[in-house]
Amino acid sequence: MKLLITFSKKGRREPLIAKVVKESGVLINVERAVIDSMSGEALIDVPDADALVVCNLMRDKGATVRILEHGVSKDDQECVDCGACISICPKEVFFLDNDWKVKLREGRCVLCGKCITACPHHALSQTV
Ligand code: SF4
Ligand code: SF4
Repeated sequence: MKLLITFSKKGRREPLIAKVVKESGVLINVERAVIDSMSGEALIDVPDADALVVCNLMRDKGATVRILEHGVSKDDQECVDCGACISICPKEVFFLDNDWKVKLREGRCVLCGKCITACPHHALSQTV
């Protein structure tokens, strides 16, 4: 399950994610993170069975947690199968099927937003 974690670094001495890993024993896969001196945002992936304990620990430590049900979605009426999204996606979410149609492996998406910006037909969007 993918979780989007946002947190403040104000007054925080220990790294949030490392602390939750240590306390929960859950291996957390960090798929994307932007952290500066004041705050942080991280997209993490955890086993579904461990999601609740990770959510609770994150929230106990002052973080905001959003469960991300979906990756990027494609409007097939707008898509012209140009392939621009294939080349820009860092996670190889997009691929061509046998009929040269662009398809998605939604589970790989880390919601970086690059394809949404790059699509010339505005066929891609993020549904959270
Ligand atoms: S960039 Fe947009 S129009 Fe081009 S293949 Fe991807 S979704 Fe379709
Ligand atoms: S949001 Fe990022 S990871 Fe997800 S499909 Fe688009 S480019 Fe790939």
